[in-house]
Order: sequence, then structure tokens, then C-alpha cells
Amino acid sequence: MDSPASLLLAFLLASPPPAADPLPPEVDGITSERLMRHVEALASDDFEGRGAGTDGARLGASYLISRFEALKLTPKGTREFRQPFRARGKEMANVVAMIEGHDEERSREFVVVGAHFDHLGRRGDDLYPGADDNASGCAALIEVARAFTLGGPPARSILFVGFDGEEIGLLGSRHFVRRPTVPKKELVAMFNLDMVGRGEPGDVRVCGTSTAPLLKTIVERHAPRVGLTTHDDHERRWRNASDHAPFGDARIPFLYFGVLDHEDYHRPTDAAEKVVRRKIERIARLVYLTARETADGAARPEWEASGAGKARK
Ligand SMILES: [Zn+2]
Repeated sequence: MDSPASLLLAFLLASPPPAADPLPPEVDGITSERLMRHVEALASDDFEGRGAGTDGARLGASYLISRFEALKLTPKGTREFRQPFRARGKEMANVVAMIEGHDEERSREFVVVGAHFDHLGRRGDDLYPGADDNASGCAALIEVARAFTLGGPPARSILFVGFDGEEIGLLGSRHFVRRPTVPKKELVAMFNLDMVGRGEPGDVRVCGTSTAPLLKTIVERHAPRVGLTTHDDHERRWRNASDHAPFGDARIPFLYFGVLDHEDYHRPTDAAEKVVRRKIERIARLVYLTARETADGAARPEWEASGAGKARK
């Protein structure tokens, strides 16, 4: 066992495995410090729990807009960043911002990254800060947008959408899908962030992998790169649980990123200090990598009619 060949073999066996694909530098820019600043702001008393149709929700929309403006994102299909709508007797508005793709053909197609900014507001003497639900998703939305600006424009265009009225019946996402600010057939995929800051730091629940095989491949490849294991055990139960549902009903492939329900879910105790910093950071990084590859890829994800993506009607 001391021939040059066996020495070489022993050396190879002893050396560490080849380094994994390094993460693009903009991924390091998605940090828990940056994310938590947004979570703490949106969950603060100033925002009054962001109840749909209240000044608190309007302040939430303004917060997203000011961050998107600072990142030099542009409106798309609306004069300003707001897409106003009225439902259940309330005046609400989604926030829609774009990064334009660079590819001559594919830039006409859009990947949507979305998160609802409304929450439960005040009820009696209680204020519902909604730090996990869904200041966490809004924080990730902003930092994913920032990573796209740092990493350079993708081939397809990206729409970053803050949804209003989620808590009272997915009203903002229903309105957006009914009246998208770009042609509906050009919406290639939707990634929804709703509650991404609680529970075990190493796992993420992903619903929607059965709506398009390509999305499943992409998200499962990137998850271990950021220290996450995906679980798709809520594929049917969460099909209609949040803003991805109207997209699924329109046969637009989606992935929903979330966590298991916890003891502070829809309680006044859903506070910023309980958000798990490592977890929100990892999920935001995963959503960026997944959206980036979907936007840059040659192939458009194809709707899988037999999956849990099956439209309700
Ligand atoms: Zn929510």
C-alpha cells in the first residue's frame, strides 16, 4: 500500500470534498440585521398592526414603496407604485414594483415575488403587531429586491408585489390576478412569502412544488446551499391558505414559503423579538436564489395540471 498510486488514492480520500458551488456575492448581502430592521419597523406601534383599510396598512404600503424607490425599482402598469382597489367596503392598495429583465424576448415575461403587508390591526385594547405574519415576509421581499439590484438584471422581469387585504380574504392577491398590471399570460411563476421567521432555523415549509416540476427542482437544489431542508408536507392543506391561491387558480405555477403555525399565530404576542434571525435570513436567501434561477432560466416553468396546483373550480 505504498505505491505512488495508493499514496495518491490515500491523499484523495483524505482531502475535503470539492467546494460546493459558491453563493453569488449578493446573497451575503441578505443579512438578518437588515431583515430585522424592517421587521422591527413594520411591527412597531406606529403601524398599528396594519389592519386592512386603516392608516396602519397604508403606512405599511408606504414603507414598501419608500424602500423600492430607494432601490430604484420602477412602477409597472400603474402610474405610481400603488394599485388601488375597493372591496368589502374598504379602500386598499397593493404595491407593485418592477426590475426589468435584460433579455429581449424573456423580459416580456414576469416572475412575481409577493408578500402581504396587512395584518389584524387593533381589536379592542389589543394591538396585533404581526411580526412573523407578515412583517417577516415583507422584510424578505425588500431584501430579495435589493439582492436583484446588486446581482444585476435577470433575463425575465421581476414584479415585487406587496398585497393588501390578505387577512380578510386574500383580497389584494385576488384583485391583482383579476387585473394584473402586466398581461396575465406573461406571469410565469409566483413566489409567496407569508410567515418566514419562526420555528427551527434549518427547515422551511414549501407548498406548490407539485404545481411545476421545474420549480421543485430549482428550490430543492438551492435549499441545502443556504442551510435549509424543504418539507412539502402541506401541499394540499396550504393550497388556499395565502396569496399564492389566486395565482394557482389561474394556473400560474407558484411556491409558497412558510413556517408551521406557532403559539403566537394571530395573537398580540407575534412580536419582533421572537423572530428567528437565522431562519428569516436563510429563507430570504433561498427565495432570492429560486427566483433568480427561474428568471434567468431558458425554460419557463410549466403548469402541472395533476398536482395540488389543480384549480379549485
Ligand atoms: Zn399571513
